[in-house]
Amino acid sequence: MSTETRLGKSYDPKPVEEKWARFWMEQRTFTPEAPSEKPKFSLVLPPPNVTGSLHMGHALCFTLPDIIARWKRMKGLNVLWLPGTDHASIAVHNVIEQSLREKGLSREKLGREEFLKVAWEWKRKYGGIITDQLKKLGASLDWTRERFTMDERYSWVVQYVFVSLYKDGLIYRDYYLVNRCPRCSTVLSDIEIEHRELKGKLYYIRYPLAEGDGGIVVATTRPETMLGDTAVAVHPDDLRYREFRGRTLVLPLVGRRIPVITDERVEKEFGTGAVKVTPAHDPVDFELGRQHRLDQVIVIDGSGRTTEAAGAEFNGLDRFEARIKVVDKLRQLGLLVKVEDYQHMVGHCSRCKTIIEPHLSWQWFVKMAPLAREAIRVVEEGQIEFIPANWAKSYFEWMHNIHDWCISRQLWWGHRIPAWYCQACNEIVVALQAPEVCPRCAGTELRQDEDVLDTWFSSALWPFATMGWPEETIDLKTFYPTDLMATAFDIIFFWVARMIMMGLKFTGRIPFRQVFINGLVRDFRRRKMSKSEGNVIDPLEMIEKYGTDALRFTMAALAIPGMDLSLSEERMAGYRAFVNKIWNASRFVLMNLEGGEGGIRKGELTLADRWILSRLSRITAELETALEQYKFYEAAEKIYHFVWHEFCDWYIELAKPDLKAGKATTKAVLALALDRILRLLHPFMPFITEEIWHHLPGNEGSLARAAFPVSEEADLDPHAEEEMRLLQDLVVEIRTIRAENRISPRQKVEVWLKTPGERERALIPEIRDSILTLANVSALKVEAVFPPDVQMLKGVAGAWEVGISLAEAVDLKSEQARLEKEIRKVTAEIEKLERRLEKNEFLMRAPREVIARAKSELLELRENKAKLEKSLDEIRR
Ligand SMILES: [Zn+2]
Ligand SMILES: [Zn+2]
Repeated sequence: MSTETRLGKSYDPKPVEEKWARFWMEQRTFTPEAPSEKPKFSLVLPPPNVTGSLHMGHALCFTLPDIIARWKRMKGLNVLWLPGTDHASIAVHNVIEQSLREKGLSREKLGREEFLKVAWEWKRKYGGIITDQLKKLGASLDWTRERFTMDERYSWVVQYVFVSLYKDGLIYRDYYLVNRCPRCSTVLSDIEIEHRELKGKLYYIRYPLAEGDGGIVVATTRPETMLGDTAVAVHPDDLRYREFRGRTLVLPLVGRRIPVITDERVEKEFGTGAVKVTPAHDPVDFELGRQHRLDQVIVIDGSGRTTEAAGAEFNGLDRFEARIKVVDKLRQLGLLVKVEDYQHMVGHCSRCKTIIEPHLSWQWFVKMAPLAREAIRVVEEGQIEFIPANWAKSYFEWMHNIHDWCISRQLWWGHRIPAWYCQACNEIVVALQAPEVCPRCAGTELRQDEDVLDTWFSSALWPFATMGWPEETIDLKTFYPTDLMATAFDIIFFWVARMIMMGLKFTGRIPFRQVFINGLVRDFRRRKMSKSEGNVIDPLEMIEKYGTDALRFTMAALAIPGMDLSLSEERMAGYRAFVNKIWNASRFVLMNLEGGEGGIRKGELTLADRWILSRLSRITAELETALEQYKFYEAAEKIYHFVWHEFCDWYIELAKPDLKAGKATTKAVLALALDRILRLLHPFMPFITEEIWHHLPGNEGSLARAAFPVSEEADLDPHAEEEMRLLQDLVVEIRTIRAENRISPRQKVEVWLKTPGERERALIPEIRDSILTLANVSALKVEAVFPPDVQMLKGVAGAWEVGISLAEAVDLKSEQARLEKEIRKVTAEIEKLERRLEKNEFLMRAPREVIARAKSELLELRENKAKLEKSLDEIRR
């Protein structure tokens, strides 16, 4: 036998993973044909941030679609999985500004051009870290098509889309209240804001009437903004304020005369029912102000400091200093009525944790309603399908209540807005190229907008901009629309919805047919992983410890649709054991192949041979069904059980005597089964399977490109399965009775079988020898009724009864005590589970799979208890 067919004693993942990752790259295994006549399957990778480093979320989000991509490729589809990274404006800014601060510099001191040089330098140096880490996961991405959202070509497409939307009237500029981080000094999108509960105060302030006595008390959490108040509002039905309607108040500290207005949006129950209106510093007030045509007085600027408009006394203060000063002054004047403790939610910058400041400024917006209409339609019509389906509900909810999207950001790293302002006449020119003269006044001094676009603007174009659009490229023709988008739920709105809108608007087609939403990776107690909790599991560390295949298999096995994953290192260790099991079984097979080259001769197939071929065919079909429905956990569980508990535990054991006897057909079946198992496992565990597969004689090329097994109707053999099931049931039962009664496995026993009928009795001759060997039985007697004079330990295997003769001495007394104890334990467990299953809450909330599992667990426990009671009866007899 050639040494090539031998595997090393134990599996060492690292060199194997490096070898095949290099091989796939060099062979361009994952580069599809284009153009191609073959049916295609395409997907684009959600581009990770260039600043990113691999976490468990990535590991999940990249492993699951990789399983699908590899499976489809093996099924003969022309698969493209396109990778790339996102420029992540704000994240890059944070990294670079941090390093500038450490050197005593700032971006303002550096200037735009120098700053961008530093940013590109940083990108060249560190931007590849995340992609290198991705490669470690074995994701079957076509790296020859790698994209970056700030590539020259991609940037051009972004500008092109901006200009087109502007021309179509879907992009406009507006003076608007946006959320801003004073520290990062940029506008933040909703996803960049973290709402946290704060212990604040509610200040009650009296605003006197301009004429006559009295006044109105308003309540506010931000007294410093009163300097910018331009009205006080009450609810139209609020009788407490009927006589104040239309009257004028004097704003304390400022002296401005402001009206009392009525508006239905005022909450009568909040504070005193009267609220101050600050259009320049509060989103609700902003809307109110627009409708009631109120002035917008900016008293806090973009960096969080008070302005001249705040009045000489308060000008130039930090917003929190201003609060103290304003409150002090009001107290002195006797206008501060009272202060209460008040818990409320406050928006913070998700990057630097600074409290955000609503800020009035010129911004660019995309008009969303017309785009959303189409995007709603395609999901309603089922052109795009969400998996699990309930995510479509949240999608519709959001899309029906969509707001216009603020796309300008006061940053430098990103796609600069292609708009120029004429310095002479203020004309705005939006164009792909810098205009030389103003089209209105022919002035030549034009200045480009300083802002860049929200990062999500460019990533919304990802599925088609990466494929060469707007040109009708071969890639676009071959691979667009894509088939699958796999991502996390938290970016359905920020990304998935916008890709759908932009795809429809610019290509006239949906960008993808299915959206698979994966869960969150939590710790084993179902808590979120976070650095502060110290419960973060690092995927790179896990790869180092357990190997990539074990990590990938864990991800698949935990991925129940619609549920978060609860991850533990034990789970991963368990699947490493599985990896080792596969290695050892393969090693055994490879050592026993010689002589099987002639192939399978039908007439020589043993029961075990026929059974394993039949089971292989069935498991193949089941695996396909599970993968088609994205039930990764089910696919993983099935293949795991099949390989370990059927192929390794039974088939290899049953084949051993035949191998020893040199039966050529069994050798051929063994080789065939291993080959198919490797193919079935490959999408989950690409590295170890590729390695072993090459040791099987005759295999060339790459397993990643080999055909996925087909469920062969001809291999299905229900009779063999029935016989094997009986063999397994009987052997397991005999072993169980032995174990439960402390009979050593080495001690031969006499076994009685009570057959349920003549048809069943006919199954025994073919499996008799295997039972004798596998259960260490000295004599096997099959009867229609048990002889009444033989005392035995009894058990049940399906419709059969099994008895082990008690003639071999068993210590009956201690056995009785042990059984009684065991019964008490099982009874307690049953009761606990029953209580759980009786709870309505559990039944309503828990996913179907979990309930089903609990029910089958209960069934098993009850069976177990019945068995124990039977043994006890037997002993007492
Ligand atoms: Zn910030
Ligand atoms: Zn002009």
